[in-house]
Amino acid sequence: MASDPNLTSLTLAEAREGLLKRDFSSAELVRATLDRIDETEPRVQACLHVLRDKALADAAALDGAGPDRSKPLWGLPVTVKDVFLVRGAPTTAGSRMLSGYMPGFEAGVVTRLRAAGAVITAKTNLDEFAMGSSTEFSAFRPTRNPWNLSRVPGGSSGGAAAGISARQAPGAFGTDTGGSIRQPAALCGCVGLKPTYGRVSRYGIVAYGSSLDQAGPLARTVGDCGMLFGAVAGPDGRDSTSSRVPLEDLSAMTPPEASKLRFALPRELWEGRFDTEVEKVLSSARRVMESAGIRLEAVSMPSIRYSVAAYYVIAAAEASTNLARYDGVRYGLRAPGRGDLLSLYRESRTEGLGPEARRRILLGTFALSSGYYDAYYRKAAQVRRLIHEEYARILGEFDFILAPVSSIPAWPFGSFTDDPLTQYQLDVMTLPLNLAGGPGLSLPAGLGADGLPVGIQIQGPHFREKPLLEAGMLLESMFPRLPEPAFVSG
Ligand code: GLN
Repeated sequence: MASDPNLTSLTLAEAREGLLKRDFSSAELVRATLDRIDETEPRVQACLHVLRDKALADAAALDGAGPDRSKPLWGLPVTVKDVFLVRGAPTTAGSRMLSGYMPGFEAGVVTRLRAAGAVITAKTNLDEFAMGSSTEFSAFRPTRNPWNLSRVPGGSSGGAAAGISARQAPGAFGTDTGGSIRQPAALCGCVGLKPTYGRVSRYGIVAYGSSLDQAGPLARTVGDCGMLFGAVAGPDGRDSTSSRVPLEDLSAMTPPEASKLRFALPRELWEGRFDTEVEKVLSSARRVMESAGIRLEAVSMPSIRYSVAAYYVIAAAEASTNLARYDGVRYGLRAPGRGDLLSLYRESRTEGLGPEARRRILLGTFALSSGYYDAYYRKAAQVRRLIHEEYARILGEFDFILAPVSSIPAWPFGSFTDDPLTQYQLDVMTLPLNLAGGPGLSLPAGLGADGLPVGIQIQGPHFREKPLLEAGMLLESMFPRLPEPAFVSG
């Protein structure tokens, strides 16, 4: 059945209003988004599992009880990246290693989404174990960018971003270890928030780099990201790194006055090489901000230069320990082996893990091995400390940091799959923030002449998501509003 564009094009905030006024029911809204998934999936491939029956049943149950204003996401369809455990649905983390795994418990984020009244409609595609920047390392299929189907959607939360952009859902959850929410949001023309490390529970999320992983929302507007974030953020006793810092009251958000704002622009990020269209859109975004009275000042953050090296040592080291559990005995796919334990381990891991996951395990195991620990892991931890201090210093002087998200727009499939180092370098705009731990918001700055969206990001002090979102709302009102994606093929 053709989906109803009047329902699928609504933002979360608009859909909430319609639901509360009973203009339409949750079942109608959820059905429209499920139909839209059916319609667009052959081209986009954003979902790994569509929870059609369960979602329709959940929506019908909500409708039966009637609209509930006290629930911030009442009746609203939301997707989650396939690293969040959802009861009754498979979780693969984009890996063959977890094919067939049905979790016996649910992620903290998912429990809170349900408590807030949300309906989970689908589990979205990602790079295997969230390792990647293009969704090409999904063990199942790549996701395509709705703006141009021959391009990647970014990653690792590529399915989440492509789904939002294709109007498959008004809201989504992803995870960001080194940019995996902000970068696909930028490449697909949507908004993505990486909250402060510890702000959103990691309980029940398949781990990649545990000291960096953070869950957060993607949506089509900054306000919608705020709604989703507010519904899930806050302490969770089941995640030992979850923070007890009180959550700010997000019920009334007011954009700040432009003339009072000072943004720091790190030279290390702004003075590199950019694609011409990206450069044009970013320059015009800066001009618009300045003419509105926002002060933009260049600063130096020298340790950013070492962030890619430090991140790929720390993230790989943590990945190698997190993935050690998938041995075919206690967890994960089990290959037959040749009658001894070693061959069972070897064959299970060879069959279960793709090339990028293996590369990370090898890199990480090497960096942690005795004799190399000081040269790699300890050094990377020292760089991390420097980055943290540099962020604190700059954010002590300025309100926010303004940075690009990606120096190039969505790229053609296969551009970097054989060149991991170049691919890693492209993450330089996003991963310093993960090393520092603070929150960052990526929002569309405009569309290039190539028809591809360009994102820009703002980063702020730890646990200050509210002023970050408010500043994001101000910028959103200044930047051009993107049309619906064109689904151009090639
Ligand atoms: N591209 C980065 C990596 O491959 C970030 C991924 C992420 O944030 N999950 O590690």
